[in-house]
Amino acid sequence: MSYRSLLHPDDVERVTQEVKDYRAAGIDRFYQQYRLRHANGTYLYVDDYTLLIRDGEGVPSYYFSYIYNVTERKEAETALYQSNARLKSILESDTAYIARTDMEGRFTFVNHHFVDLIRRAYQREDSLIGVDSLETIVPEDHGITHETVMRCIAQPGKPFQVILRKPNPQGGYFHTLWEFVAVVDDQNVPVEIQCVGFDITQLMTTTEALHRANALLQSIVNGDAAYLIRTDMDAKFTFVNERFRRLIRIAYPELGEDLIGVNSMDTIVPEDHDAALVTVEKCIALPGKPYQVVLRKRRPAGGHFFTLWEFTGVLGADDRVTEIQCIGFDITELVETQQLLSEREERYRFIFENTLDSIILHGPDGSVLYSNDTSSETGYTAKEIMAMSPSELAALIHPDDLPRIQAEQAQYMAEKRSEALYTYRMVHKSGTSFWVENHVRYLRGLDGALMGIITVSRNIDERVKAQEALRQNEARYRTLTRMVSDFAFEGVFNPDGSITVTWLEGDYEAVTGYPLETATQTWMSITAHLDDAERVKADLSRTAAGEQTVSEERVMHRDGHYVWVRVARLPIVDSSSERVIGYYGVVQDISAEKNQAALKAEQDRLRANLRHEEALNETIRRVVSAISHDIRTPLAVISTSKDMLSRYYERLTEERRSAAFETIDKQLAFVSRMLDDLSKIVKGVLIEGQLELKATNLRTLCQVTVDELKQTIGQKHRLVLDADWQHELVMVDETLIQRILFNLLSNAIKFSPEGSRITLRLEQNERQTVLKVSDEGIGIPAEDQERIFDMFYRAGNAQQITGTGVGLSIVKECVERHAGRVLVESQVGVGTTFTIELPLLVEQAPRSANLTD
Ligand code: ADP
Repeated sequence: MSYRSLLHPDDVERVTQEVKDYRAAGIDRFYQQYRLRHANGTYLYVDDYTLLIRDGEGVPSYYFSYIYNVTERKEAETALYQSNARLKSILESDTAYIARTDMEGRFTFVNHHFVDLIRRAYQREDSLIGVDSLETIVPEDHGITHETVMRCIAQPGKPFQVILRKPNPQGGYFHTLWEFVAVVDDQNVPVEIQCVGFDITQLMTTTEALHRANALLQSIVNGDAAYLIRTDMDAKFTFVNERFRRLIRIAYPELGEDLIGVNSMDTIVPEDHDAALVTVEKCIALPGKPYQVVLRKRRPAGGHFFTLWEFTGVLGADDRVTEIQCIGFDITELVETQQLLSEREERYRFIFENTLDSIILHGPDGSVLYSNDTSSETGYTAKEIMAMSPSELAALIHPDDLPRIQAEQAQYMAEKRSEALYTYRMVHKSGTSFWVENHVRYLRGLDGALMGIITVSRNIDERVKAQEALRQNEARYRTLTRMVSDFAFEGVFNPDGSITVTWLEGDYEAVTGYPLETATQTWMSITAHLDDAERVKADLSRTAAGEQTVSEERVMHRDGHYVWVRVARLPIVDSSSERVIGYYGVVQDISAEKNQAALKAEQDRLRANLRHEEALNETIRRVVSAISHDIRTPLAVISTSKDMLSRYYERLTEERRSAAFETIDKQLAFVSRMLDDLSKIVKGVLIEGQLELKATNLRTLCQVTVDELKQTIGQKHRLVLDADWQHELVMVDETLIQRILFNLLSNAIKFSPEGSRITLRLEQNERQTVLKVSDEGIGIPAEDQERIFDMFYRAGNAQQITGTGVGLSIVKECVERHAGRVLVESQVGVGTTFTIELPLLVEQAPRSANLTD
């Protein structure tokens, strides 16, 4: 079976081509990535480091390949990527519907809440997985759904909102507000649509109902339109105003245009003549005092115009009543609305069910002149209401609200207002109470005196409850916001393009270092990182154009370092002009997240390096031991020849002597070539290319190295990192430092007893970075200490322990490349300390840049 046959079919061609290209370019060390088939049939992602070894003539003789399984890393990266996107939406949605679909629009995930909704809307009981999501949306909304999905695909990661309807089995719709986001895989290809939705049915219907009912109420209250007339004592008109004329023109066209001299009784339905006459009599008996009466007029379309009148007797010169002055109001709509409602017409059904009004007409003393049937609301019939005294009526107001209402009323009366709005709890006949909104119209005579009161009370219990629910929802949302954000603010665009912060709430100081009280002045002046400025500007203009944006940016903390924040910007649209007037910003400090992600990536990278190191050492070990085996033969030959020469030199012929010398020379040349090859291999894997100084977090590097060894070859020792450290970043070649640490620590492990302690100490002074590796092992004899850094040299007491004598020479080389030095202190049987001193090079970088830049 060839190795190549194990490669993933999709990778074979690329990998083969890469090798060819490297060969052609004369590159002997290269790195490849591909998928490899495991014996169990699955594929692994691997990293492959290959080294081509050439012989003395430069002809390629063999390859060394180091293969690392990186499958887990690959998978984790992809999963993390996807789960992040998901988690975010779950966090942001408490009682939300959550669904995901594949790119065909079929559900791959739905939460309970959503299944519930669909069960109610479509009476379907299945799990919905695999079902076409369009089946759960009314056909009229398919177009907009499709459009929204296309927008998501065009801008993955960006949420788009859409309102979709589901049928309500009771008739009408469930209105749901959705946010769609396309989630992409690591190749940035959209793989699913993530949807989070909220039920806004209540909001929509309440708004709709209020809207309709308001329009109605408006027309009732505005039906002001006073009619002004005067009659003589024969009930004939002596004056009528234009408004009254218009009414009569419609109601009694046969009476003509000019009503002066016409009998006023002709403009009243016969059934109400008595009531009118009784009122006139009262006026004559008590001149100057107004009396009220409701009179009906004929209506050509059928039914009546209802008018409320105030009659007053006017005294003539001889102290007798000579004229009746009348002021009237049209209350038709008032009465008709009530009738319409009770007719339960389909188009008023909703209002009837939700906001049935109770309409009462009071005299100036508060007595009831007229009431509709409110029994379905208050439990009282019209008859019961009309029989109530003012104090009994007052008792319909909840005792806790009554004093307030009475005080308000007294004030409005003193101000001679013509309208008022009261909100209180009304007590139902059964004793329960509910919230009402009471629109009151005070009808006033010419002199401003009160002549009647119309009250229209609407049950707003549902609304109050809805508002309460909304408030709770908002509170819930706010807690959630607090969970996902540190602070939120409102910014308003100024004409010159600048932004004024009008409101800010949350833990501002923790993020920025500035006190919350100063937030509205300071937030916009906080410096953003130069590298982010362009992006933020672009986001702002998108927000100004009505788009919701989310970006990650750096802002400068009061103490000068940069803080990573995630800012979501939601446009605020002015409802009348439909222009974006500002935006709502939700800010979250993500430095920890950023640092953690960066730290993890950093550690992963260092760990991978270290494994590479381990593999290299293993290779060297194998090559060295193979070569030391091969070297025995020539050495034996040399030794024999030398022996022969020294013992029998005198007896040997000149010819034999030179033959023996020649043999020695030949074998020496062979050995030296072998050693050459060996150092080539060692050098090859050791140090190639330039010293790459890079700002490195040495503490992390040491920590990762120690942790990694603890889990591998150092399990039986006590490995300790002891860091006395100030600078987070120093300029070193990270690979070489890892090589140093790995070799010193693995020696310490190898040459000291199980259970003993090994310390890696990290120190710093003004000039140097110092790394010390101490053990309690076998120690190094004084006479060997000078030579242990030579290649292949091993101390006398180390012969029983396997090794190649290469490690320390690598260490020395790495240290010297940093212009540093390596020292050893050791005592046989006590322990050894290797000290590495490196010149201190510190990078001056902003604090926030330590790991994330
Ligand atoms: P290897 O460890 O493969 O023998 P090195 O070059 O790493 O080769 O080390 C060279 C020699 O230095 C070792 O053979 C050993 O004699 C000595 N030595 C290195 N580190 C220690 C140690 N921590 N304790 C005792 N002896 C050591």
